[in-house]
Amino acid sequence: MHSATRLAIYRRLQTANPDPTTELEHSSPFELLVAVMLSAHTTDKSVNAATRKLFPVANTPLAIRDLGLGGVKEYLRSVGLYNTKAKNLIGLCRQIVERHGGNVPSDRESLEALPGVGRKTASIILNMVFGQSAIAVDTHIFRVANRTGLAPGKTPRAVEDALVACTPDEFRKNAHHWLLLHGRYVCTARVPACPKCIIRDLCEYPSKTEPRALARSDAPIAHARRPRKTPLRKPHKRLRAR
Ligand code: SF4
Repeated sequence: MHSATRLAIYRRLQTANPDPTTELEHSSPFELLVAVMLSAHTTDKSVNAATRKLFPVANTPLAIRDLGLGGVKEYLRSVGLYNTKAKNLIGLCRQIVERHGGNVPSDRESLEALPGVGRKTASIILNMVFGQSAIAVDTHIFRVANRTGLAPGKTPRAVEDALVACTPDEFRKNAHHWLLLHGRYVCTARVPACPKCIIRDLCEYPSKTEPRALARSDAPIAHARRPRKTPLRKPHKRLRAR
């Protein structure tokens, strides 16, 4: 893809959504880390359903650790793979308490050493909490980067490296959320909503969906609108008291 086309794609995504953010509900870096960790292989909706119950009861590493494995599982039943994730969450909280003084670590090595935290989760935290221009690649971003020709690659890591190499500095911070939301709501896996897509004239995908095919499908074309901003919950009582 020509660099001018890439620039035009980012400009359009920026104009449509100047301040993109996650749909995972959170009110602290730790809550965000927990929510992102829980979101692997499951929807943000099911994670939000779980954390809406968990965080008002326990939203610090110490408090979640003290719930114990059985206690945590009760809150995570709406989340896919909740048995493994509950075990990882307890391990993550223990490690943050014992090695990082209760704070979310700010370097990739320490983040990736936490149970249940891989490269993608670490990149999201480095980007959203610590202002680094890391670009996490999930299944949506992998698909959009390959279909459009923005940053083709055979593996998520190859796409990540290509995105980091080709994304202009001014768009690095928000590239993850623009591409993720575009893949989630417009460039969907089964029937991409090409006739409604704001970058269709710039996209190099050769098999774009025809208007008739889109009308016959159940593709979520209504999501051409901007997604709502993440509602911030009121801080937990214990946080407010500090
Ligand atoms: S034109 Fe179609 S394939 Fe290309 S980005 Fe838009 S929805 Fe995806």
